[in-house]
Amino acid sequence: MHSTMMDFPLTLAHVFRRAARLFGATEVVSRLPDKSLHRYHYRDFHYRAAALGGALQAMGLKPGDRIATLMWNHYAHLEAYFGIPCAGFVLHTLNLRLHPDDIAFIAQHAGDRVLIVDDVLLPLYEKFRGKAHFERVIVVPLSGAAVAAGYDDYEQLIAAAPSLASPVLDENAAAGMCYTSGTTGRPKGVVYSHRALVLHSMASAMGDTLALTQSDSLCPVVPMFHVNAWGLPFTGVMVGCKLVLPGPHLDAVSLLDLYQSERVTFTAGVPTIWMGILQALEKNPAQWTLTPGMRMVVGGAAASETMIRAFDRHNLRVLHAWGMTETTPLGTTAHLKHSLQSLSDDEKYGYRSKQGLPAPFVELRAMTDDGEAPWDGTTMGELQVRGPWIAAGYHELPAEDDKWTADGWFRTGDVATIDAEGYVKITDRTKDLIKSGGEWISSLDLENALVAHPAVLEAAVIGVAHPKWDERPLAVIVLKAGAQTDEQALRAFLAPKLAKFWIPDAFVFVPEIPRTSTGKMLKATLRERFREWHWP
Ligand code: AMP
Repeated sequence: MHSTMMDFPLTLAHVFRRAARLFGATEVVSRLPDKSLHRYHYRDFHYRAAALGGALQAMGLKPGDRIATLMWNHYAHLEAYFGIPCAGFVLHTLNLRLHPDDIAFIAQHAGDRVLIVDDVLLPLYEKFRGKAHFERVIVVPLSGAAVAAGYDDYEQLIAAAPSLASPVLDENAAAGMCYTSGTTGRPKGVVYSHRALVLHSMASAMGDTLALTQSDSLCPVVPMFHVNAWGLPFTGVMVGCKLVLPGPHLDAVSLLDLYQSERVTFTAGVPTIWMGILQALEKNPAQWTLTPGMRMVVGGAAASETMIRAFDRHNLRVLHAWGMTETTPLGTTAHLKHSLQSLSDDEKYGYRSKQGLPAPFVELRAMTDDGEAPWDGTTMGELQVRGPWIAAGYHELPAEDDKWTADGWFRTGDVATIDAEGYVKITDRTKDLIKSGGEWISSLDLENALVAHPAVLEAAVIGVAHPKWDERPLAVIVLKAGAQTDEQALRAFLAPKLAKFWIPDAFVFVPEIPRTSTGKMLKATLRERFREWHWP
């Protein structure tokens, strides 16, 4: 029997139209390179994004052609987010923190035909222009300076654009793409469909995921070149909320000033950002008046319980979330179930510092060598996921059979436990697991235990080859400014919390831990650095 429902495509075009119709007066605030604030409204955003789409159509591009962006988080990038896919093209966000050679490789591999670039990022573009072959380069005059000859001026293009010819979009057509910024290997392209982005936005907005509504003031600190700023620009425009975009100013003081002046209620970023914010707040607690209970999504790397507790003391609510470029990225969020509200504070923090419960339509399992791990909160297995916004392959790469299982699950490369309530806890990357005397040790658990020490700012634990135990953990520690401690004190601190064989055999103090462009610790680099380590 057939249903009697309309076949209505799930596309960003609907989100875009609806935003203009219903929320024309909603504000979009962007921090510019000179630190001033640019303000306009959804109606301006809609008009200009449509003009961008019209201008691109007039360039003779074909549906599905890739348009690259090399931009910070601001209004023009938001225009690209909707103008490009609603005109039938594919928004390809380039990660400006990568090495110029990698950016060129990615642009070539994606077949990008046009680049839209912030004028302040032209020096970066100059470093790889010889290796990438864009047919047109459109410059956004963010700093107010005239656009040099040889480039298209974004503002002039928009002012002269013919109106957008709204194409009929297939919901399964490509709308966006992003390359993984993995810690090893060549970047791989993930292509998002309209349908995936729409469903992801709906699931993200739900009360038990991110709970975004039109009364929010939303500030994505996570860059718009990293998994579409976790989809927040799409979700925010879908619900019609105020958007606050921090531009290139991502230092703690600039962000706190912005949170205060724009009454931000919801923000999102990686743990390194929040560490800086926390230090600024602890130093000058009275300097800022923030929205009480402001929600802060922490993802991309693990949020420690110490951090969650510390923000609670400032009446700021951390929401721990897990996801990946391949999962668009929403996978899990760590809300407390209603049935767990009566637990003790310590138990509640235990749940909130896990990565959380899967969003609707995200199915997951932890797989061991002997099949699916029981949901007992202790058995570790490789986390595998499937769902309507989970990648089924990479752009123009042969199917990698080690990434997808024969029965259609995506192998995340993360190791996790799942407890009886369904909360996922990431214990490691498969590549980072430490195996000592045949037993697994979770480097993430060790790191979280170490950062609970008052003198420790950051910790990375790696496995180093050992003649007797195969591998033993070595802890690499960054101390807080002015703080002091030593190996003995750290051992004594860990001893009551962990199994004896988990305690690292060595502690090394360093000024900083190497990280990727998206804030992940580069453990491969650390392993390389300590490869020749001699155990006493
Ligand atoms: P990316 O595709 O660059 O966003 O990286 C995804 C990877 O980041 C995941 O596979 C995890 O290893 C890591 N990750 C993301 N969120 C978390 C989290 N909340 N806790 C621990 N690791 C995370």
